[in-house]
Amino acid sequence: MIGLFGGTFDPIHFGHLWPVVELQQALGLDSVRFIPCALPPHRQPTVADAVHRLEMVRLAVADYAGFVVDDRELRRSNVSYTVDTLKDLRDERPTITFCLIMGMDAFVNLPTWHRWQDVLGLANIVVMQRPGVQAALPSWAQQIHCRQRSEFLRVSSGQCYVQEVSPVDISATQIRNRLAEQVDVETMLPVTVLHYIQQHQLYTKT
Ligand code: ATP
Repeated sequence: MIGLFGGTFDPIHFGHLWPVVELQQALGLDSVRFIPCALPPHRQPTVADAVHRLEMVRLAVADYAGFVVDDRELRRSNVSYTVDTLKDLRDERPTITFCLIMGMDAFVNLPTWHRWQDVLGLANIVVMQRPGVQAALPSWAQQIHCRQRSEFLRVSSGQCYVQEVSPVDISATQIRNRLAEQVDVETMLPVTVLHYIQQHQLYTKT
């Protein structure tokens, strides 16, 4: 099973990396593809350009076995729809099971995603709890919720599973705000990413 972890990664931080390491081990994922999105359909434009966000993800995942970068959404020039990404991946690897990895804050909004039922037809979903975000699954998710890990690992699409991970109370918003105020962020993201941010003067106040 391959994990797919999409996000703006503006910038990537330990709240992305550490829970996914735990999740990768717990579920025995062969690899995890980090997929920075180009134009996020649900949110404000990103602060850093795509080229910087991609480079920061490259630097961060270099330290982790089994983590890889997938830049396909940045190579498409349109809005990043997960359903299109999944169809692409399915064409490339027809026999592999894919599982989308997302925090609970992203998961609760799944029904607002473009063709979300088709997304579920193409992959499973693993949800991570996130500090400050509701812990309970929304009611619409009850019918696709697999409580047993062994059962979840046997199905190839349409199910969600909540993986317990150690909470990491970090967000990219916090990091951007701290950088703008020149407050230390060293413990929040890999040092290679921090150096990149400093070198390119990202997230400084304008
Ligand atoms: P921002 O603060 O700019 O909204 P973010 O820190 O939430 O950014 P994203 O790139 O938007 O980061 O998130 C990508 C994915 O990572 C989402 O599914 C989100 O729920 C998850 N995620 C981000 N931070 C954490 C965290 N600390 N713990 C668990 N999941 C997280």
